[in-house]
Amino acid sequence: MTGQLQVNRALFDEVMVPNYAPAGIIPVQGKGSRVWDQQGREYIDFAGGIAVSSLGHCHPALVNALKQQADKLWHLSNVMTNEPALRLAKKLVDATFADKVYFANSGAEANEAAFKLARRYALDKFGTDKDQIISFSKSFHGRTFFTVTVGGQAAYSDGFGPKPGAVLHAEFNNLDSVKALISDKTCAVVLEPIQGEGGIIPATADFIRGVRELCNKHNALLVLDEVQTGVGRTGKLYAYMHYGVTPDILTTAKSLGGGFPVGAMLTTNEIASHLKVGTHGSTYGGNPLACAVAEAVLDTVNTADMMRQVLENEQLFRDELQRINAKYQVFSEVRGQGMLLGAVLNDKFKGRSRDFFLAAAEHGLMALVAGADVVRFAPSLVITGDDIRQGMQRFEQAVQQVVNA
Ligand SMILES: *Cc1c(COP(=O)(O)O)cnc(C)c1O
Repeated sequence: MTGQLQVNRALFDEVMVPNYAPAGIIPVQGKGSRVWDQQGREYIDFAGGIAVSSLGHCHPALVNALKQQADKLWHLSNVMTNEPALRLAKKLVDATFADKVYFANSGAEANEAAFKLARRYALDKFGTDKDQIISFSKSFHGRTFFTVTVGGQAAYSDGFGPKPGAVLHAEFNNLDSVKALISDKTCAVVLEPIQGEGGIIPATADFIRGVRELCNKHNALLVLDEVQTGVGRTGKLYAYMHYGVTPDILTTAKSLGGGFPVGAMLTTNEIASHLKVGTHGSTYGGNPLACAVAEAVLDTVNTADMMRQVLENEQLFRDELQRINAKYQVFSEVRGQGMLLGAVLNDKFKGRSRDFFLAAAEHGLMALVAGADVVRFAPSLVITGDDIRQGMQRFEQAVQQVVNA
């Protein structure tokens, strides 16, 4: 073959399964919170690849960890003991409530492991009647058939034939709706501390604490899905640390790899003991390249200075959004925490988040949506004040364009 195939947007329609509808932008390079496309156009990245690029693009510590491991060893099967995986597991255990770690390659896989473990634990300890999983409307837990069924958007799980059973949905932030469903048949309640895909909806502290108490009362496990909120994004290493509530199982992915695919399920010794040899597994889970990068992410993120910076960045984001809103009146509120924020469109602009997203891209800013009514921001935790201010100037131009259209 001579030379590389020229890639353009039309090639997507030609060769890709049509389950995505990507914008026409073709980014080819990134550094920090700046990204460049094929034509050399520059973008400021307020999206972070949907809360993934936690340290921006090509952070030197991550590039170094990846290159060093790439020269040593890429893959090990799970029949061998694995240095990078155990180093990362030890650091996750030391930094959290957990005693034990299971590695996966994505958020959905980490949740799949969590739900299977919750079922197995209940079966072993309490028998076949305790199999119900309670989750919440609008929740999102991944796209495998089990995780998408536990998720609270039927539109995502319908149309694939019979679903995994014994999954119930309560209303988020409504403790009475949980009380109405929970019983001794409940094996687990699954909850995102901030619903991400559902529209950046934070759980209230009272709600999380109330769910914890209900779980205790009914011997049900509390599973916190921190795939989007984890690894420093909310200004603590994990969002549960804000509430004084300890989960039984926690799942983490997205920011954990800073762009390298990795996921993990964290739990206690007692619960972990029910995932005996042969009960679950993954070929790539614990991949040395992934774990070496994730260790560098964790080392870089898990410091008091970093958590302070996340909260300072949040304040700057909120100030800038408020400044823009004072001029154009497009948002009813800004919600979320740390570097996971949602600007909620007011009645006049309801349903038009994609218009803001597209206008932002036209003006050199990568933003996100979270449903039709929320413009979402999930930038790098280490985005600079200058990048935030310049990005907000571009976002202001986008808002002006939508308002004047
Ligand atoms: C993104 C996300 C997932 C799914 O993660 P994948 O890596 O896409 O499988 C699960 N739960 C939450 C809360 C998420 O935001």
